[in-house]
Amino acid sequence: MSEGTTSLPAVTDVLPSPAGTSSALEVLHRVFGYESFRGRQQEVVDAVVAGGDAVVLMPTGAGKSLCYQVPALVRRGVGLVVSPLIALMHDQVDALRAVGVRAEFLNSTQSPDERAEVERALLAGDVDLVYIAPERLSGGSVRSLLDRVAAGPGISVFAIDEAHCVSQWGHDFRPDYLALADLVGRWQGVPTMALTATATEATHRELTARLHLEGATHVVASFDRPNIQYRIVPKDDPKQQLLKLIREEHRGDAGIVYALSRNSVEQTATWLAEHGVDAIPYHAGLDPRIRAANQSRFLRDDGVVVVATIAFGMGIDKPDVRFVAHIDVPKSVEGYYQETGRAGRDGLPSTAWLAYGLQDVVQQRRFIDQSVGDAAHKRKQSANLDAMLALCETVGCRRRMLLAYFGQPTDQDCGNCDTCLNPVETWDGLVPAQKLLSTIVRLQRERNQRFGAGQIVDILRGKRTPRVEQHRHDELSVFGIGADLSDRAWRSVLRQLIAQEVAQVADDYGTLGLGPLGPAVLKGEHPVRLRHDLERSSSGAGSKRATPVAADLDAGARELFEELRAWRADQAKEQGVPAYVVF
Ligand code: ADP
Ligand code: MG
Repeated sequence: MSEGTTSLPAVTDVLPSPAGTSSALEVLHRVFGYESFRGRQQEVVDAVVAGGDAVVLMPTGAGKSLCYQVPALVRRGVGLVVSPLIALMHDQVDALRAVGVRAEFLNSTQSPDERAEVERALLAGDVDLVYIAPERLSGGSVRSLLDRVAAGPGISVFAIDEAHCVSQWGHDFRPDYLALADLVGRWQGVPTMALTATATEATHRELTARLHLEGATHVVASFDRPNIQYRIVPKDDPKQQLLKLIREEHRGDAGIVYALSRNSVEQTATWLAEHGVDAIPYHAGLDPRIRAANQSRFLRDDGVVVVATIAFGMGIDKPDVRFVAHIDVPKSVEGYYQETGRAGRDGLPSTAWLAYGLQDVVQQRRFIDQSVGDAAHKRKQSANLDAMLALCETVGCRRRMLLAYFGQPTDQDCGNCDTCLNPVETWDGLVPAQKLLSTIVRLQRERNQRFGAGQIVDILRGKRTPRVEQHRHDELSVFGIGADLSDRAWRSVLRQLIAQEVAQVADDYGTLGLGPLGPAVLKGEHPVRLRHDLERSSSGAGSKRATPVAADLDAGARELFEELRAWRADQAKEQGVPAYVVF
């Protein structure tokens, strides 16, 4: 966070506290033991303590919890907190109890007796904060309980954490969040808060409208994380590339490595460990005890590298994570930003490193095609992926692009990301783009068939492989027209053309088609600038695997898909929510 605390004293600091209540700052010191508010916490706290609603958009780790915890303790009555993850809920309640706050939760893990006990305490006014799972709130009995609490001991604040879950097309939609809307304003004089780390303008607008918070104080903190260096490299041999990063720049540092599949998590962790890195795996398929043990080793010990699926991280608060590495491309910029945001919470220099390849794009498109959901949902997922690819392929400053994505444009380059440090040379890619597109068109016209990247590159390069001969591709007029570029160069061209929507992965077999800009490029009406890939192959000699894209895609993609589906189902079960979206 780059901005300082507001210098004006809070209302509650200058006014004498009414009898029986305490000021916000006093609560911050006495209960939480913190010196001062951080970033823009105080603005939020002041607004809510004064009885106003608030929409709070702050990056992960900024300290959103205190924004509702402090007002809940300052104002009369119990604070209601809606939180989507049961595990997080337990952690928060434990942490609050440890500092003497009377915190409880209401969720599906409780027995009827436990629930009755919490209800009794609520009605007696013996609770400061209660965490409630969203699905609990759709039931009439909890609502009438809360009505009685409101009429009795009172409700100090109604806080909706992870409020982006209300966004139906967002990356984390929870159907139960929609039902929260009619609780907003239900209790006279109770301020409502919506908090999230997702800050695209679209999400902001959507959650504001759905939760009827147009009149709230909106606090949008800076999403810049100046101490994080963003680097995105072409994927070559991801394990070797990762090991090089760790050995050369992060030896002995704590780090998180994100991979898409459980299998790849296991393999990568084992491989790193064999190469002297203190690496451990984390994914939803591990025995819960091992998972918990691995998590606490990562938190407690120095220099542990956890290799994980995206199941890892929500609520993880370790200040000295020095690097976050992705060996598969994330599904959205929001996801990427949240995951990389776990690096460098202590403000010290940290690295966000991502290796990305054409195969990632093909796989992700396939997941989207095969996902359960209507056309609009798929379009949204597709748009998320496109934005992520554009970030990967940009020739400009990555930080600028990220900030612009989160609605905070700047005209300054950061000077620290990979593209700033090694300005990307671009070249005129119109001719190769046209060669590629005409090959796609010709195959469609003359063979009435679509082909994947591997075969298309073989045709362009004029390789007489068995598959090329079997399909008599060598008789096509386009055969060999791209012999001037290497396999590697063609894959880079292709990736970029897909990111620029000139070409696209047309179906879940990974076959290629023209993108929305394809026709204009074919006619020479739309320019194509391509970047030279800076990081060249550093490992392995001579010609590498000929067609990594086509060759192992089917099995790999299917396996990943199954794992994502299983992970999502696990998550849904853990949280007691229906598995509405597959992933
Ligand atoms: P978020 O929900 O925004 O991701 P959290 O509320 O979990 O962030 O807070 C992240 C960490 O920052 C926690 O360890 C919290 O105790 C710490 N923190 C929050 N506010 C302050 C503050 N004013 N001073 C010191 N530490 C703080
Ligand atoms: Mg939080």
